[in-house]
Amino acid sequence: MTDHERKPTTTDAGIPVPSDEHSLTVGPDGPILLHDHYLIEQMANFNRERIAERQPHAKGFGAFGQFEVTHDVSPYTKAAVFQPGTTTETLIRFSTVAGERGSPDTWRDPRGFALKFYTSEGNYDMVGNNTPVFFIRDPLKFQHFIRSQKRRADNGLRDHDMQWDFWTLSPESAHQVTWLMGDRGIPKNWRHMNGYSSHTYMWVNKDGERFWVKYHFKTDQGNDYLTQDEADQLAGQDADYHRRDLFETIKSGDFPSWTLKMQVMPFEEAKTYRFNPFDLTKVWPHSDYPLHEVGKLTLNRNPTDHHTEIEQAAFEPNNLVPGIGVSPDKMLLGRMFAYADAHRHRLGVNYKQIPVNRPQCPVHSYSKDGAMRIDSVCDPVYAPNSYSGPSADGQRFPEDATWATDGEFVRAAYTLREDDDDFGQAGTLVRQVMDDAARDRLVSNVVEHLKQGVSDKVLQRAFEYWRNIDQETGDRIAAQFQTA
Ligand code: NDP
Repeated sequence: MTDHERKPTTTDAGIPVPSDEHSLTVGPDGPILLHDHYLIEQMANFNRERIAERQPHAKGFGAFGQFEVTHDVSPYTKAAVFQPGTTTETLIRFSTVAGERGSPDTWRDPRGFALKFYTSEGNYDMVGNNTPVFFIRDPLKFQHFIRSQKRRADNGLRDHDMQWDFWTLSPESAHQVTWLMGDRGIPKNWRHMNGYSSHTYMWVNKDGERFWVKYHFKTDQGNDYLTQDEADQLAGQDADYHRRDLFETIKSGDFPSWTLKMQVMPFEEAKTYRFNPFDLTKVWPHSDYPLHEVGKLTLNRNPTDHHTEIEQAAFEPNNLVPGIGVSPDKMLLGRMFAYADAHRHRLGVNYKQIPVNRPQCPVHSYSKDGAMRIDSVCDPVYAPNSYSGPSADGQRFPEDATWATDGEFVRAAYTLREDDDDFGQAGTLVRQVMDDAARDRLVSNVVEHLKQGVSDKVLQRAFEYWRNIDQETGDRIAAQFQTA
């Protein structure tokens, strides 16, 4: 291609510019002229390139793909996206939780697994993680939890004392901390990990029948992990190791996939199930609720502009479509506010008009105006109206993902069920899922983590915490800590 065949550089207003290299000056050695608008536009734009990073989940990357339904789950949900034979365009974003936008991919941390399905009934988002549980069960503690994982006020450093202080004073964290300190706490890459809704959601079928469900996206590549040593080395060598892996793999035509399987609980069973099925720190054992296969998610297209397609992607658990609803999980109900609020702050009120967030079906909303509005509105701008404006159709789209409840307003933990406690399922993970070698790695990971600046009073609580999870594991951690 000759220079004349290349596209000419222009200003943002489309005006051709004379030079990519030289500012306008008074003679070659003279001062720069203020009316060099192109220079000023370049400097001003550069100063504004960074937008606020996400509070948690700041470091991430994603890709586009398709979700294809392979099995009939229409007896459980009427959602168009899950009807037999349906294929839906999707976007996924993987992330770490605590690290900042430039932090290493291989730090020990849960991974975000955020999905957007561009369905015929509007965007459906599942903002999940690579873990089926979480550290806390009440959204009032979320801000505090994240602060304990991020940085101190005085020196701006991350601090293991504050992490273990929060965890050991919050025993409901035991299940997720066990998971985090085990092999799955550092996945080999994003392709080799599962994704879970973690929360319980509601599905409603076309007859109005309701079910409680949990989503499990099982990796078709197989689960695999990095040891702490491997992860530490990679953090220094290639902070973007997981991002590079995903991008290069998709670029080479080797498309990663996940099989979606669901746990389904009949509506009435939730009332008497031995665990509170809405407690985010608990799983539903597979022996009680086996997995039902639904379909396959395949990632096959890289973004071409990370900023507009991934950094500006906005996932929110309140993006639910007919046939899918929330559950009484307090964390989920808290997230229904927090995510959209974060996007309004980070991207502006009209963030759903950014192309990556746009539904691929018609939008007939009454929202109008606001900063950076792209779509124009037309009259009538209110409802109800007698001028043919959009009209809600409760017959076609009933508010049917609901449940009945009553009680006094209180600030209290969930009512405990027969098998509800903070340590039981964590102990099952240690004793029944991990083998001897995995337990050895767990002990070593915890000891190494505790050795990094944890104060004595927190340390003693940490040993007790692990003894509550599993006596032998706790004793080994305490003993190994003393000799290490
Ligand atoms: P199962 O034996 O039926 O399931 C155990 C699960 O553990 C499998 O899904 C497996 O996932 C996963 N797993 C394997 N190794 C690890 C590891 N190192 N860290 C975390 N998870 C691992 O038993 P239950 O359903 O009765 O659950 C027992 C315990 O397993 C739970 O207390 C929970 O800690 C953990 N678990 C349970 C899940 C559930 O939804 N029931 C989901 C994931 C974990 P895979 O084969 O896909 O790799």
